[in-house]
Amino acid sequence: MNITVKEPLKNYIAGQWKDSSTGRTRKIINPANGEIIDTVVESGKEDVKNAIAAAKKSFYESGEWRRMCGQDRADILFKIARELDNVKEKMAELDSRNQGKPYREALGDIQDAVYCFRYYAGLITKPCGGVYDVNDEFGPMHSYMVHEPVGVCGQITPWNYPLLMGIWKMAPALAAGNSIVFKPASLTPLSTVKMFEIFDKAGLPAGAANLVLGSGDTVGSELAASNDVDMVTFTGSTVVGQEIMRAAAGNLKKVGLELGGKSPNVIFDDADLESAVEWAMIGIFFNQGEVCSAGSRIIVQDTMHDRFVKRLVERAEAITIGDPLKDPDMGPLVSEEQMNKVLDYIRIGKEEGAKCLCGGCRATEGDCAKGFFVKPTVFDGCSPDMRIVKEEIFGPVVTVQTFSTEGEATLMANDTEYGLAGAVFTKDCARALRVIKEIRAGITWINCYNPTFNEAPWGGYKMSGVGRELGPHGLEEYQEIKQVNINLSETPLGWYENE
Ligand code: NAP
Ligand code: MG
Repeated sequence: MNITVKEPLKNYIAGQWKDSSTGRTRKIINPANGEIIDTVVESGKEDVKNAIAAAKKSFYESGEWRRMCGQDRADILFKIARELDNVKEKMAELDSRNQGKPYREALGDIQDAVYCFRYYAGLITKPCGGVYDVNDEFGPMHSYMVHEPVGVCGQITPWNYPLLMGIWKMAPALAAGNSIVFKPASLTPLSTVKMFEIFDKAGLPAGAANLVLGSGDTVGSELAASNDVDMVTFTGSTVVGQEIMRAAAGNLKKVGLELGGKSPNVIFDDADLESAVEWAMIGIFFNQGEVCSAGSRIIVQDTMHDRFVKRLVERAEAITIGDPLKDPDMGPLVSEEQMNKVLDYIRIGKEEGAKCLCGGCRATEGDCAKGFFVKPTVFDGCSPDMRIVKEEIFGPVVTVQTFSTEGEATLMANDTEYGLAGAVFTKDCARALRVIKEIRAGITWINCYNPTFNEAPWGGYKMSGVGRELGPHGLEEYQEIKQVNINLSETPLGWYENE
């Protein structure tokens, strides 16, 4: 009898596919039905140390990647973008099946990932740095600045955008000439493993990009703490972000953190009702609400409240939920644990006295019978002290609060420890700009919610993070700046000539 044992997916270290030193594996689950879809290695400290050593060797010893001229690095990154584009349907299917997002949303993510590689491939060949007109206290001088890669970068990502959050980090870090050690979320590593197959074929020098599959406690914490890592970038929860910052203090690593949010969506009574409702739905139900920038706090003017909420509930109740590969409006949450966390918040909201107008429970009909589905949930009559208003739920649950004046609206919007995103809906242009100016958040929208662009910076104020990804800022995060001062004089300075 032939028994074929499927190999677990492996780490990629120094240009080789490697088993983990622990011999342990992890089962990867389809959240739409609880079935096992693949198996990956579960790494230990030794594996991550090996990967860090490979990146260090690549950066500090061979230097092949960092010394390669920008144009050649760009060629390789364009090749990676092309390869990813060629397999985008396959990649989208992997993310949809592994994470639970509707297929069309997964395809949009992969398309964005392709553009992100192209963007940084292009950007690295553009002028940067600067020349300074400096004083002549020490004689005539020329001063200029160059950007250089930081070194070994540890990169850690969450499960909500399995591939895309990684690409936001890998593309600029590699474009800048760094060597990376990447750790995807343990729940959703599949598309990232495929991405490294593309790196392998595209001709990245060995050790420039390394992949370690394993838990945050083991692999992630080592990347944050290791003295051989020069920079750590992380997307995930604020609590883990704080741990990473503490661990990074040992060798004063550069740190980039993209953390949680509880973002306000402020709606005035002159806004177009249908449009505001549509965007508010995208704000909270896109990706099942598992979005760091989700518009999870609707703050609506009292004179608009009844009309708005009635229409929002009608639309939320009409949302289709099911197998993400059949492209419903919403798929399952990423895991049973995440579903239970969200259901727990729904219970808390009800106990706190908020009015649950729709949803408020699992979806179990038809395709949903065995998966981790939660119905779109709208809580009305919410007040600032409620936990469902203060804490990030990371699921399809939105709270509604009302205001009467613009001043009240901005106070309410800013009444949070987070500062990732926020939006305002109104036809009054001056008012829109006034409100946005007051909102303490890094990403804001006027009369829309969620559109994100590779060209523009992304990141949070307050406890939503440190630093920016995307756009030119996203490249600079992965660069050090060096000042070079040149003495233009041919004669001695004569500083000590009275000696
Ligand atoms: P998480 O628990 O913080 O995990 C994120 C990543 O960190 C995972 O790879 C995780 O590994 C790893 N990790 C866990 N503990 C660690 C430790 N002690 N040291 C180093 N790494 C560690 O977050 P999540 O539950 O996956 O994702 C949800 C959170 O991410 C939300 O708060 C959301 O707002 C935030 N998020 C923010 C953005 C943004 O751009 N601002 C984007 C997406 C998500 P394991 O997978 O093994 O646990
Ligand atoms: Mg977690």
